[in-house]
Amino acid sequence: MLLGANRVGFGTMAMVIIGCTACRGCQLGTCHVGIATQIETTEEAERQGLKRFVPRVLENGVIYETTFFRGMAREIRILTAKLGYHRTQDLVGHAELLTQTRGLDKLDLSDLLAPPAPAGVPQLESDVRIIRKPLNYLTSLISGLVAETFAKGEERVRYDDDSATSSDRAIGTHLAGTMVRGWQEGRIGASCEALLHFHRDSVPGNGLGAFTIPHITIRVEGGAQDGVGKSMRGGKVVILKGENRNGVRVGGSVGKGLGYGAQGGTFIVQGEADSRACIRLSGADVVLGGSIRSRIDDTLGNMAGRATLKGFACEYMTAGRVVVLGDPGPWFCSGMTGGTVYCYLDTEMGFDREVLRRRIAQGAGVEIRDLDEYDLPRVEQLLGRYHRELLHSHQEDEADWLAEVMARCRGSFVKVVPEQAMITPKTTE
Ligand code: SF4
Repeated sequence: MLLGANRVGFGTMAMVIIGCTACRGCQLGTCHVGIATQIETTEEAERQGLKRFVPRVLENGVIYETTFFRGMAREIRILTAKLGYHRTQDLVGHAELLTQTRGLDKLDLSDLLAPPAPAGVPQLESDVRIIRKPLNYLTSLISGLVAETFAKGEERVRYDDDSATSSDRAIGTHLAGTMVRGWQEGRIGASCEALLHFHRDSVPGNGLGAFTIPHITIRVEGGAQDGVGKSMRGGKVVILKGENRNGVRVGGSVGKGLGYGAQGGTFIVQGEADSRACIRLSGADVVLGGSIRSRIDDTLGNMAGRATLKGFACEYMTAGRVVVLGDPGPWFCSGMTGGTVYCYLDTEMGFDREVLRRRIAQGAGVEIRDLDEYDLPRVEQLLGRYHRELLHSHQEDEADWLAEVMARCRGSFVKVVPEQAMITPKTTE
């Protein structure tokens, strides 16, 4: 903090307090202290030297955490007072309070600890200030153009582009803020709608459509990086395969954390999704259209790498509807307490109910059930939205495959929902 940080994270420390050895092996499913989700503990696994999964005791963990953080808060208060300050936040940037006490013969840190020159004082002549295009340049540019068009009386605006890249972050987010402020101040009509369409092989950077609202649709042909549509309130984000230079459609995949905490709106993703897709999903509709490309064989290992969703999909989900047409990957539905996930059993590729059961995280309070009359129209409706996107983008072959899947919805889909015990309120008689 004395060097300038005004926030400090204790995520790793909190894990270490309850026994984590920071071995960085969470993704292997073989946590040796029973914190991260485990592989099934079979006799064969034990023969291979893998430890039987014994979850940590929650009550003890809570006591350890509160004891540690109380003690640390007290220490920090004492240190802050000794430095002559009332609030720890007031220490931010006071590098002059730091002194190098050792290692001076190896590394002199005096430049790092020197206070910055006051504003207006010229720097050394050799110093060159480097400026770059701001990371949020495209999102604010689009926002300005769309708002300008609305101001001219247009109600439906489409922004077309074919060159979004990884440096174009949070596309659509600036526009969401502009439209909400415009509605509140009466500058933008309540019925105004915006479509942002990125063609060819666009792959926008992190946070595409983050915090998006109703009346905004973002369609990308290519792919997208991490954090697509996080905390989205409404609207639509569609990620389709994009044409490469040979005119072949490829990709259509998204990075980590698709739809994190999204409360509303629709997501359609034609390709794969990296880990933690739909984590903390809180009300949005999601269609994950990537299909299984080679016959399921879990004995090959690396289940996450081979799956369509790369692990921890639908973790901590509380509400919403998700359709998964491919392999949902390991540690599926961990901590899920609400909503419904519809899974396509692609038996031709060896993906049946038993394989799905193996994907579900150890300890997850969920169950696999057949669809009922209430579910069928919901699945058809969600797949129908995906089907329209495929036709709209002239992907007739994919649309035909999807139409066949839709035709046999009843027998080839199951749903994963929280166990009845978790969603039925307890009664006292
Ligand atoms: S595998 Fe277990 S011990 Fe290792 S880093 Fe993950 S939680 Fe910590």
